[in-house]
Amino acid sequence: MRKKIAILGSTGSIGTSALDVVARSGGAFEVVALSAGSNVKLLAAQARAFRPRVVSIADERLARQLKALLPGATKILCGADAPSEILSRGGIDIVLMAISGTECIMPLVESVKKKRRVALANKEALISAGQIVMELAAKSGAEIIPVDSEHSAIFQCVDGRREYLSKIYLTGSGGPLLNVPARRFDSLRRGDVLNHPRWKMGRKITVDSATMMNKGLEVIEAQYLFGVDAARIEVLIHPEAVIHSMVEFADGAILAQLGAPDMRLPIQYALTYPRRADGLAKHVDFAKIGRLTFKQPDYKKFPCLELAARAAAFGGTAPAALCAADEETVASYLDGRIKFSDIPKVISRVLSAHKNINDTKPSLGDILEAVGRSKEEARVICCQ
Ligand code: NDP
Ligand code: MG
Repeated sequence: MRKKIAILGSTGSIGTSALDVVARSGGAFEVVALSAGSNVKLLAAQARAFRPRVVSIADERLARQLKALLPGATKILCGADAPSEILSRGGIDIVLMAISGTECIMPLVESVKKKRRVALANKEALISAGQIVMELAAKSGAEIIPVDSEHSAIFQCVDGRREYLSKIYLTGSGGPLLNVPARRFDSLRRGDVLNHPRWKMGRKITVDSATMMNKGLEVIEAQYLFGVDAARIEVLIHPEAVIHSMVEFADGAILAQLGAPDMRLPIQYALTYPRRADGLAKHVDFAKIGRLTFKQPDYKKFPCLELAARAAAFGGTAPAALCAADEETVASYLDGRIKFSDIPKVISRVLSAHKNINDTKPSLGDILEAVGRSKEEARVICCQ
């Protein structure tokens, strides 16, 4: 039977790749809902091509524009709660979470409560509300299948043998600034910072790759997804981006997952799991690559790695504050309000001022409040 799929963030880098996977699946999936932020034209084109029952867009003005472009049969929702409203409806088997940032917290909570399979690309929601989300998933029996390439790799290597897992090697290409000295960071044009050597991704995650905050966030993401503490996760810089991560088991055996750096692979796996469908990406040409290399990350050059580790160690609402501060600070950098080297400084100030709630388990309300407050604090600092 065709699986019914909802794609939140359908107009972004992950969303458009996911629709490509669906289009090439030979009819294995039916797109029942699409949700986007602002790209009316692309959302309308996607809705005409995939004919979902419902679509949503961020505000009313955009919804009016969308209405003019779409046939009457498609229901149009709008507003901040629209993605959650889509998920409260029945008739959805799989939800692909591909909205970027902390906006995804409520949709993720909604999905796991409803026992949907979650194909999880968004990382900020899990990092912010990890304990709550994992507990809800355990209670409802909802499956969370990671789409982030490293976590998909770890998921594939662990393959149900979590009790034997002793260590994770979380690999990363090193991002666009791996070989650029820190003293040159502020003289780079934003276009250079956004030019990732291996992956084509949205702007926020590409800046996160340049600061290496992305890898710091991924350590926390792995902690929640695989129940492993930070001491057992080693970040390895692997510029060839062929090994997407590795796991070591109790007996010392190490398994790695390899493949072309193409996000359609982990997206497809999350949708078809436990089946494997026909491949969409190029084959890896090992002879051409020649060798695979590894080195330790430079924590001094990339202070965001340490900031993420600090937030994870604080626990409580600190990871939510980290995600929110990063989101706002990266947006300010992209708008030209701050320099590249200001990014870790602003996040550090927000984290230092954060009144952490970690004596008891923070509630969802505490987490959402920490997100709102930290964004506001980062905004104020960036405007100074
Ligand atoms: P993009 O910026 O390319 O896309 C974000 C999507 O979210 C767009 O469709 C955007 O709509 C939509 N969106 C934004 N705000 C809202 C809202 N309020 N309601 C509904 N939709 C909204 O990001 P990516 O695709 O690169 O990344 C998405 C997530 O996946 C991130 O959390 C990222 O960390 C994670 N990820 C991405 C990877 C990648 O290869 N890109 C790899 C691993 C993880 P619009 O464009 O119409 O405004
Ligand atoms: Mg990743």
